[in-house]
Amino acid sequence: MRIRTQCRACGLPFGAEITAQSTTLACPGCDVERPLSQQGWQDTPHGRVDQCPLCDCQHFYHQRDVNRAWGCALVALGAALAPWTWGISLAVVVAVDWWLARRLKMAVVCYRCDTVYRDAEPQLRQDEFDLLKHDVMKYGKTWEDAKRE
Ligand SMILES: [Zn+2]
Ligand SMILES: [Zn+2]
Repeated sequence: MRIRTQCRACGLPFGAEITAQSTTLACPGCDVERPLSQQGWQDTPHGRVDQCPLCDCQHFYHQRDVNRAWGCALVALGAALAPWTWGISLAVVVAVDWWLARRLKMAVVCYRCDTVYRDAEPQLRQDEFDLLKHDVMKYGKTWEDAKRE
């Protein structure tokens, strides 16, 4: 299961791969390890996460697994080369960008710790991002408080 997460100790965002044998996840920047739970997730071709291995949260949302920075850099490169290639490079990167966007799968994201589970398929209750739910999970607001506001 490929994941993207952020180190709690030094704040470094990093990608990693966790398997059913992993018991900890170490930060490549500062080597601080976080315990990994083996419960509630499956690393199979159609993987799923029902409980976050990093924070035990059971609430997730789905989003497209897109690497924005990469797409922008690609288009910038195509534009930079355009004068020498009579615009062909620009047409090529636009085509590649379109092809990439179509290939992107859905990823599942933990509401509480923002870890992205890139190989997990969204389950029915793992809906679009919901700000209210996010605040409740992250800042410990209660549903009652949120409704009164
Ligand atoms: Zn770190
Ligand atoms: Zn989590």
